[in-house]
Amino acid sequence: MTEGRTRIEVEGIPEFWDVVTAAEQRCLVLDYDGTLAPFREDRMRAFPLEGIRELLIEIRDTGKTHLAMMTGRPLDELLALLGDLDVPMSGSQGTEFRFPDGTTQTHLPDEVQESRLVRGEKEARALAPDYRVERKTASVAVHTRGMSELDAARIQDALCGVWSADAEEHELECRRFCGGLELRIKGIDKGTALRTLLNTREGKTLCVYVGDDDTDEDAFEVVREHGFGIKVGSQEDPTAATGKLTGPEAVREFLIRWLATTAGK
Ligand SMILES: [Mg+2]
Repeated sequence: MTEGRTRIEVEGIPEFWDVVTAAEQRCLVLDYDGTLAPFREDRMRAFPLEGIRELLIEIRDTGKTHLAMMTGRPLDELLALLGDLDVPMSGSQGTEFRFPDGTTQTHLPDEVQESRLVRGEKEARALAPDYRVERKTASVAVHTRGMSELDAARIQDALCGVWSADAEEHELECRRFCGGLELRIKGIDKGTALRTLLNTREGKTLCVYVGDDDTDEDAFEVVREHGFGIKVGSQEDPTAATGKLTGPEAVREFLIRWLATTAGK
């Protein structure tokens, strides 16, 4: 995959590749959906773009980059779609961790949160077709991708109203993500997961976090002290990321250049 060298730049960070080249240690953390894999209405058909899995393995095998994955999906879904890369992975919006040796850590909801999540699932099923409702260990999600804009907005707005009304008192929060809405544990997110990951590193490590969604904003905030956040996509929404790539194809180019830049360093 190193052939066909690319000169892709990260919009907003002209010095990006010089900083990556000069770094003593590097950590590259990647979101999955919308970053490595284009969105699909059937979520279990959202595979990574061709060549991306091989690139990640090559980057990992150079030993020059600590690679990690982060997703809103349950980890078993990520493993089914991307395969096991033997790198740290965080799933379900920061509530699940899987380490390269296969051990896992899961943040479970307490009794009060669990009872609200059970109710939240019923509320979601009353408003949306069953196949669009997903109960995860520590959250309930409703997926609206593929619906008309009007129907998606109607369901999201109605549920957000119901969930937000008492989310706070159950230490939960209602958050929108690209293609849906989720009732989830408050205070645990991709930012806290990234902090946990970075706490395992010793010495000065340049960290780069790449993601496309509103849920990645928590990680973009955390990564600012350690390196760069790169937002994927063509929207002009406000973001805490400093860099930008246009979509998964650009991320693939980025990974090719990352490999070429770091392999010999
Ligand atoms: Mg994403």
